[in-house]
Amino acid sequence: MDASKPTIPVTLIPGDGIGPEVVTAARRIVEATGAQIGWEEQRAGAAVFKEGMPSGVPQETIESIGRTRVALKGPLETPVGFGEKSANVTLRKLFETYGNIRPVRTLPGVPTAFSDRNIDLVVVRENVEDLYAGIEYMQTPSVAQALKLISVKGSEKISRFGFEYARSEGRTKVACATKANIMKLSEGTMKRAFEKVALDYPDIESWHVIVDNAAHQLVKRPEQFEVLVTTNMNGDILSDLTSALVGGLGFAPSANIGNEVAIFEAVHGSAPKYAGKDVINPTAMILSAVMMLRYLGLFDEAAAIEHAVFVTLESGVLTGDVLGYDRGTPTSTYADAIIGNLGQRTEAWTIRDAKKLVLPALDPAPDYVRPTERNVVGLDVFVESPLSAAELGASLMELTHDTRLSLKMVSSRGTKVFPPTGAMTETGDHFRCRFIIKETPGDLPDEDVNQLLARISRRHRWMHIEKLQEFDGELGFTRDQGEN
Ligand code: NAP
Repeated sequence: MDASKPTIPVTLIPGDGIGPEVVTAARRIVEATGAQIGWEEQRAGAAVFKEGMPSGVPQETIESIGRTRVALKGPLETPVGFGEKSANVTLRKLFETYGNIRPVRTLPGVPTAFSDRNIDLVVVRENVEDLYAGIEYMQTPSVAQALKLISVKGSEKISRFGFEYARSEGRTKVACATKANIMKLSEGTMKRAFEKVALDYPDIESWHVIVDNAAHQLVKRPEQFEVLVTTNMNGDILSDLTSALVGGLGFAPSANIGNEVAIFEAVHGSAPKYAGKDVINPTAMILSAVMMLRYLGLFDEAAAIEHAVFVTLESGVLTGDVLGYDRGTPTSTYADAIIGNLGQRTEAWTIRDAKKLVLPALDPAPDYVRPTERNVVGLDVFVESPLSAAELGASLMELTHDTRLSLKMVSSRGTKVFPPTGAMTETGDHFRCRFIIKETPGDLPDEDVNQLLARISRRHRWMHIEKLQEFDGELGFTRDQGEN
């Protein structure tokens, strides 16, 4: 290290499985460029879980990232089963790294079914909301529920992030993939936020695509996409798909970026079957380190590594995931080859000219949607019952007939089953019972909610209620299949 130059502190988490091998490769290559990084090595993941820490992330690691504001992280294993949460998701959420950038591009020397397609696209995935809130319940012994939470603020933030990221790399097209046709409120929030934010970027072509068609289009004509903004779960799935377009998870880097902290890691996991064998492809982690160097403003060092990776791949030095594990170059030898190629430039392949990413300033207010008017117009009561829909409906009508609410319908897994529709919907032990206020317009006070629940409790077991709200005259709930 050059004592006359400042050292940039970075938290380094080797991780689990193949993590230490790929992180070591990336670290050695970064150091070989002369980048002045002061690594703070920290722990997280499987070993920490096994010591009995349910988060998988020790306090020292949290404090280190809080100090350095930048981490290079190997994959962390998530124990299968109940109890523990993913340490990866914990880290992303703890530091509000709301933007997950997952770029892929066609690479020299890596044969795929898409080698001639010149793919160069980035999935920009919302990183802290959606089903990854991990809020789940067994509502009855046989029915599980997961909450999909999507906020207007989170959706606007990631949409703006997508456009700013496009600008920082000179890209001109941004698409947004959602399932807004089915989840009109949750995924629809992302679609509406994206379309609103897009108006601020008239220089960038933007469009919405339904996520299942996005998967289809990504395989059929991947070159049409430059930046693809998604909600968390959709982005997780689509970005594994996009990695396969360019050679697989061994080539897919990522960055988790927030306004304070950035965590760089490969898209892949700990691939335990390859751990310790010196056969795995470290390119994803090396390219994640390239993203980190650009984030730190070390553009020359980043470009030097990217050129060296391309020169290495062009020369036919390839790992087992490309050539077959009996013939591939070992992980450590591959890293040596890249170090040996530092300073060389690829002539046939271009390196993207990146500028520092300018993140949009955030409104510090926790919520910036304030309706001028809101009403509670009814109540959904979720009931566990062994009865048939007709029996349950009749019983609920009898129990509640003299309250301020009337039973509008009962549904099973989102389909109306009472009053009878003539359809052949199966029912189980889980029902949603929708009560609507009798007067219009109405605003239901909690005393009436309590009265209704007390009546239902006389005969039935309820486990969850949801107020049916209207904000500025807009329905804050969806209708069921078959409900008018
Ligand atoms: P995975 O570790 O990503 O491995 C899936 C497959 O992808 C591997 O079997 C291998 O395919 C290929 N692969 C992964 N990394 C590769 C690399 N560097 N080079 C070449 N090929 C690579 O996914 P998983 O098996 O589902 O998950 C294992 C553990 O990792 C789980 O505990 C999971 O929760 C965790 N995980 C962590 C992260 C993270 O830290 N961000 C992300 C995902 C998963 P082949 O079998 O075809 O060779």
